[in-house]
Amino acid sequence: MADKNNIVEGNAPGAYYVDTDCTACGICIDEAPDHFDMSDDGGSALVVKQPSTDDEKANCENALESCPSEAIGNNG
Ligand code: SF4
Repeated sequence: MADKNNIVEGNAPGAYYVDTDCTACGICIDEAPDHFDMSDDGGSALVVKQPSTDDEKANCENALESCPSEAIGNNG
């Protein structure tokens, strides 16, 4: 389970976040490319855009559920 105390620096502020358990596998970026991207150093995915519509929320939730490291959290 993602831990909001270990949020990776650079996530867009809001409900969804990536924490330090991320292994940079890229699955969340495939699942929700409008919302997740790799950090500049390639060490972690980041939330680059928070969802606002129901469709966008569903895409982010799919990414969260697809993360093999359980590194994506939702504070919302
Ligand atoms: S799916 Fe999880 S481990 Fe893989 S890049 Fe995204 S946040 Fe990181």
